[in-house]
Amino acid sequence: MKYLIDDALVVTMDQNMEILRSCDVLIDNGIISAVGKLDAEQKQNASVINASGKLLMPGLINGHCHVPMTLMRNFADDMDLQTWLFNYIFPAEEKLTSEDIYWGALLGIMEMVATGTTCFIDMYDHMNDLVRAAEESGIRAQLSRGVTNFEDGSDFSEHKGLNEAIDFYRQWNGAANGRITGAFAPHAVYTCSTDFIKAVIKTAQKFDAPIHVHLDETRVEHEDCLAKHRKTPTRYLYDLGLFDRRTVAAHCVWITDEDISLLKDKNVTIAHNPTSNLKLASGVAPVPQALSKGVNVIIGTDGASSNNNLNMFEEIHLASLIHKGVNHDPLLVNAETALRMATTNGAAALGIKNLGIIEEGAKADLILVDMDKPHIMPVHNILSALAYSVQGSDVYMTMVDGRILFENGEFKTIDKEKVRYNIQKCYDRLFR
Ligand SMILES: [Zn+2]
Repeated sequence: MKYLIDDALVVTMDQNMEILRSCDVLIDNGIISAVGKLDAEQKQNASVINASGKLLMPGLINGHCHVPMTLMRNFADDMDLQTWLFNYIFPAEEKLTSEDIYWGALLGIMEMVATGTTCFIDMYDHMNDLVRAAEESGIRAQLSRGVTNFEDGSDFSEHKGLNEAIDFYRQWNGAANGRITGAFAPHAVYTCSTDFIKAVIKTAQKFDAPIHVHLDETRVEHEDCLAKHRKTPTRYLYDLGLFDRRTVAAHCVWITDEDISLLKDKNVTIAHNPTSNLKLASGVAPVPQALSKGVNVIIGTDGASSNNNLNMFEEIHLASLIHKGVNHDPLLVNAETALRMATTNGAAALGIKNLGIIEEGAKADLILVDMDKPHIMPVHNILSALAYSVQGSDVYMTMVDGRILFENGEFKTIDKEKVRYNIQKCYDRLFR
């Protein structure tokens, strides 16, 4: 399919942060094939999307999520992480069936594409059902089967979760024209024994696969690890060799200056989840310190049970504000930095070239934002408007791999009514 996006204001997110006005963008076969003023011949046979009054930018990359947790939205709130996770979330998750995961994931994907997310990084269980939702919807995703094991041991060849993770990676990594990629996901230091983490690292090495892990989210995790291993969680995983794989480490709220140097040394990406960390009162991650040392930082929503939405524009907004507030420094995490964390930095974390940018040859993962809104005008500064004024609900169109998933309030690949009906059914069975 060939599309012409006509007369857009384009925020390229290229290195120079170039902004193009009244610009045409041609999309052919999933790739941005031309940017600029195009002649009649180039426009031939293209389906035209009128973008006057709209802003075109790369789609947002949600750096850390558990998408089926939409089912537990507003289910367990106003409590600390340990209580929330062990007393509410883990017991509820034990009851989830394949159908729950599938519909919960579709609901989350609907919310994401309607608020400008074109790609998400996720770890969960029942991955075959989650990936079915991602595959059918057309969204891009890096997915992994989260694994836990509390006991040490020498042989994990019969471990159910790890075997599922291996089967999942084998079957799905690189599927759907490369839209779906895989990773291995030892859940966290406090849910995995040392021997088990070693086994997961060995498996990831065998498949040359990346890692997705929760890291140093709470003070309890930090102090327990110090007491048990005499090391911070970061130092502990560094010494085990986990970071020798390309890694996305979610949260990193309690990391020390030395930890930041270790993460930088191994090019680990930090997935910053401002809402989730605030809501569970985990703390505020030292993101400005990590950025100043050159660590790649991305932004995630975390699951909808600790957020309680999957709206990346809200996370961009918060990520740019909270560090100014807690550090008493208005210069920290400016609008451009926050937007990079949600676009180009996400592409770098995934190791996908030509993603998170509007330029010739890039993947056509992009969004149109309707700027003709009272809460956005007048636009003195385009980047400030995006970081501080635009809401997820201002997204007009979302395209992934050159395919329109959402346009003008309509979902093109997902049956909204069917999702609504089935979510209610899942909710009734699980919680009523
Ligand atoms: Zn998480």
